[in-house]
Amino acid sequence: MTDPLIRLRGVNKYYGDYHALRDVDLDIAAGEFFSLLGPSGCGKTTLLRTIAGFEGVSGGSVAIGGRDMTRVPPNKRPTNMVFQSYAIFPHLSVAQNVGFGLRKRSDLNDDARRAMVADALDMVGLEGYGGRAATALSGGQRQRVALARALVLQPKVLLLDEPLSALDRKMREQMQEELIRLQRHIGITFILVTHDQEEALVMSDRIAVMFDGAIAQLAEAEDLYRRPVDQRVAQFIGVMNFLPAAVAADSVDAPGLGRIPLDAVGVRARANDAPTIGFRPEAVTLLFPGQDAPDRVTDATVAEVVYYGDMTYYDVCLDGTDAKLRVSMRNVYGREVMEIGQRTRLAWSPGAMVLFT
Ligand code: ATP
Repeated sequence: MTDPLIRLRGVNKYYGDYHALRDVDLDIAAGEFFSLLGPSGCGKTTLLRTIAGFEGVSGGSVAIGGRDMTRVPPNKRPTNMVFQSYAIFPHLSVAQNVGFGLRKRSDLNDDARRAMVADALDMVGLEGYGGRAATALSGGQRQRVALARALVLQPKVLLLDEPLSALDRKMREQMQEELIRLQRHIGITFILVTHDQEEALVMSDRIAVMFDGAIAQLAEAEDLYRRPVDQRVAQFIGVMNFLPAAVAADSVDAPGLGRIPLDAVGVRARANDAPTIGFRPEAVTLLFPGQDAPDRVTDATVAEVVYYGDMTYYDVCLDGTDAKLRVSMRNVYGREVMEIGQRTRLAWSPGAMVLFT
């Protein structure tokens, strides 16, 4: 990235003795949809607030558009924030809420203001709602008002702090798709804070995974999922099965899987603990009765069945180990879902394995 829009260097933040951000270096390009992802308390909101200027840094620098912003207050930064709680004024109409940030703009007359508010409502799919009372809206509509209120100010960067977490699942998925379309359409930089890995994978160009105030991995969604840098990231991004491994000079041994040549293993990563082999539930296959066995097959017994309609999650025990491993299989019409206790075979390939050493 030659000229990032946002550049953080060596950002540290202390709350008293508590070290909330640790040496964060981060470049975000103009027009990117970027997500900060991590468990509760990892520092993602704090990091977002240091970009917005609501939080000062204890050390390091924040630059936006090539200008040092480290000591610049939030209202002088080209950023705007959308909060989880919407923070809508209940006594104002939808249009008054959206136009609130424009009221002090002496360069705008009433017509210009009205046109900007109408444009912003249009962008979020609320055309015609301007006259409504802000209280007479659903949760999803309120979140759209909050978005329109931020967009009307035409920020270079929109900061979104868990904006969808209060919505039910269907609404959340719909808003995710709308936000992606909106971001592509207007082309400004979005930075999203979320603890929901699926949301981050669905929405982002790139994702920074944070633990304990530091960025553990920064990558595109597919890279993060397929090539996690360590076990902690692998576990946080979706589900991964782990088996203890014994690593020799040119091979690795895992109970139930046998010996795998090291150069056939798909990905090498850092172990947080002892050497381990990992694989995703969809990276392997269960063989149904009568199915031909490919190269590598391990006998197993179905221990648990979780039916999802389009998919079934099976927990299986490989022969020779007690470990329960999760396998996800797409359901096929005309084929019975397996039952608990049924004997099966796990087909896998070394290339689907991640070795943590
Ligand atoms: P969540 O998803 O729960 O919001 P987060 O990753 O956004 O978590 P932050 O809100 O950034 O986490 O908080 C990081 C850590 O800093 C937490 O341990 C939190 O308790 C602490 N913290 C945040 N704000 C303050 C504050 N004003 N004073 C003291 N400690 C704070």
